[in-house]
Amino acid sequence: MILDGDKDLTTTLARRGISRRAFLKFCAVVTGTLALPNTYIPRVAKALEQAALRPPVVWLEFQDCAGDSESFLRASRPTAGDVVLDVISLDYHETIMAAAGHLAEEAKQQTVTTGGHIVVVEGSIPLKDDGVYCCIGGRTAVDLLEEATRNAAAVIAVGSCAAFGGLPKVSPNPTGAVSVMDLVDHIPVINLSGCPMNVANFTATVVHYLTFGEFPAVDKLNRPLFAHGQIIHNNCERRGHFNAGRFVREWGDEGHRQGWCLYRMGCKGPVATFNCPQLGWNDGTNWPVAAGHGCIACAAPDFFERAIYEPVNIQEVNPPDQYPSVEKAPEPLSAASAGTIGTVGGLLVGAGAAAAVAASRRNGHQPEGVRSEEVS
Ligand code: SF4
Repeated sequence: MILDGDKDLTTTLARRGISRRAFLKFCAVVTGTLALPNTYIPRVAKALEQAALRPPVVWLEFQDCAGDSESFLRASRPTAGDVVLDVISLDYHETIMAAAGHLAEEAKQQTVTTGGHIVVVEGSIPLKDDGVYCCIGGRTAVDLLEEATRNAAAVIAVGSCAAFGGLPKVSPNPTGAVSVMDLVDHIPVINLSGCPMNVANFTATVVHYLTFGEFPAVDKLNRPLFAHGQIIHNNCERRGHFNAGRFVREWGDEGHRQGWCLYRMGCKGPVATFNCPQLGWNDGTNWPVAAGHGCIACAAPDFFERAIYEPVNIQEVNPPDQYPSVEKAPEPLSAASAGTIGTVGGLLVGAGAAAAVAASRRNGHQPEGVRSEEVS
């Protein structure tokens, strides 16, 4: 928050060693994540500097692994720790708040009674046996969720457990786990799914709310369109290899070492929508496909029950015009040219495909060849 004695956020950030230039760079990155033109950067910066707009936030953790809290705290660019925590008022977070016991509960009570706050939920909510499988301070998760959301402005469900039930909900679902949107329907529910959520998408969602006074447009699963508007396959750096029919056939084989396409190894990129290729993880240093493992569609509702290493039934034929053979052995390729084709081809095809997808959406059509029921 803005420190005592400071007149605005810029002064506070400067005292923390974050220059005006770094702050504006942060605004530019978030504006880009939101898929907004650069002309919006000053508006985003101005909204963040207005102290009066700091919304109170109550963060609840239920059936989860705390991976989303980790994701939130591990951003080392000026994001969560340096900017988001300065523009929101994080009144309650069981893992990282300084207060404990009755003091912590009082802070939460004050916020949820006043109302107008944002509730962030991490983890699924068990309903079986009156909800006894997740209790905090002697109260069940479902009770705590109902209380926190009663007067709230919105809920952000972070991670696939809060968004869709996740691992606790996998059959036979011993605790009767459900998602936030199974229980909350009187206020907007924004799902930032993923295992864990990407903190850049959380930041962008909060910044959108502060800048425009509303949450970003969402898809049919309540996920922001800026993060789930395209299939991963369209922006993947290995796409050039897919188009050329060069597939990894065994872990550690020559194709794997040269960065070829992971489709045959079960990559779900052709049916999963997420902005991982554009944002990356660990501060944009890498993402699973670049690291050599196929996408597991961790932001999709049923990803824990999918066969991870089974190829998906892809239907997209445009581009490329012809679906490459996944059986025929490819021509050998040098490591250098493989990397070049993978990167350049992926970017070019990704850009073309993105344009096709955008055009299709503008016309109200699903992109050609993509079966909508399979895209998640
Ligand atoms: S690695 Fe996955 S996302 Fe990338 S091109 Fe191959 S199938 Fe598509």
